Amino acid sequence: MKPRAGVIGLGAMGLSMARNMDRAGLLAAVWNRTAAKAQALAQETGCDIAADPVALARQCDVLVLCVSADADVLGLIAALAPALAPGQIVVDCSTVAPETARRAAETVRAQGADFLDCPVSGGVEGARQATLVTMVGGEPATLERARPVLAAMTRQVVWMGPVGAGQATKAVNQVMAAGIAAAVTEALALGAAAGLPLERVIEVVGGGAAGNWFLERRGPTMIRNDFPAGFKLALHEKDLAICEQLALQCQGRLPLVEAVRADYQTLMAAGFGDEDISALYRRKCALFGPQTEQECHGE
Ligand code: NAP
Repeated sequence: MKPRAGVIGLGAMGLSMARNMDRAGLLAAVWNRTAAKAQALAQETGCDIAADPVALARQCDVLVLCVSADADVLGLIAALAPALAPGQIVVDCSTVAPETARRAAETVRAQGADFLDCPVSGGVEGARQATLVTMVGGEPATLERARPVLAAMTRQVVWMGPVGAGQATKAVNQVMAAGIAAAVTEALALGAAAGLPLERVIEVVGGGAAGNWFLERRGPTMIRNDFPAGFKLALHEKDLAICEQLALQCQGRLPLVEAVRADYQTLMAAGFGDEDISALYRRKCALFGPQTEQECHGE
């Protein structure tokens, strides 16, 4: 029998993930803090709208969370835990600290239910096209029971180890994402300062060894000073704090992450926290003086 899936968090990622579960015939119900988003999806798909997270927990076998940060996940899990029973699985696709995943799992398991940390990668495009990859922490048997739901929204599911291992892997991913964003934005700012035709720079560089997902997807918008909501830079800043914390626990540090995080914090203080991470281009253009900065910003 197909598991009945429920989704909490219909943001840039969760909304598309829920749509893909619906296409696979798995979506039973949703709940979102801002009710209008749940109402719109219910109208579109015919799924139920749960009155609250507890009501959602009562009617679903697999509950998928995709919310912003650690405190949001822990607050929601504390709220819905009393409604959980053996056989149910909570799947957290948010990006949070490994320790948060372990605390969430403890609360869920105290009710006899199961938990998987399943952070995803692939951006809003990956969520739309069901081509996300997910790095899973938890019991392999629990993963097998949740697999039909994960398969509906991802192209690759990789088991990483016990609860927390998925989130630790996502931290590794986010360090790389920070380095790539920093390199691409800095390089294109140099191209702008050197007076190069940036569309052609993206075309030719993208076809060679320096080509990458971020350059291909975000380069063309970035050079038009356009940073549409994709992955909010405030969310990546939150992830980089997790990476730094993990590095500290491993008796090390991440100089690259520290630099990118400082740039994000400057942008957030200037009111750009809801822009896509490609808005890092603003900071990089400023490195080349007021003229390049003005040109980068289309002024
Ligand atoms: P988003 O567009 O900002 O959406 C956040 C969602 O979480 C919204 O539905 C929001 O509800 C809900 N939410 C936040 N705090 C809540 C709370 N305390 N209680 C209940 N609901 C709460 O974020 P997103 O881009 O979808 O990202 C979601 C998660 O996936 C984050 O952890 C992010 O780091 C991760 N992620 C994002 C991407 C990406 O490219 N965007 C890629 C991979 C992973 P409202 O609608 O009421 O605001």
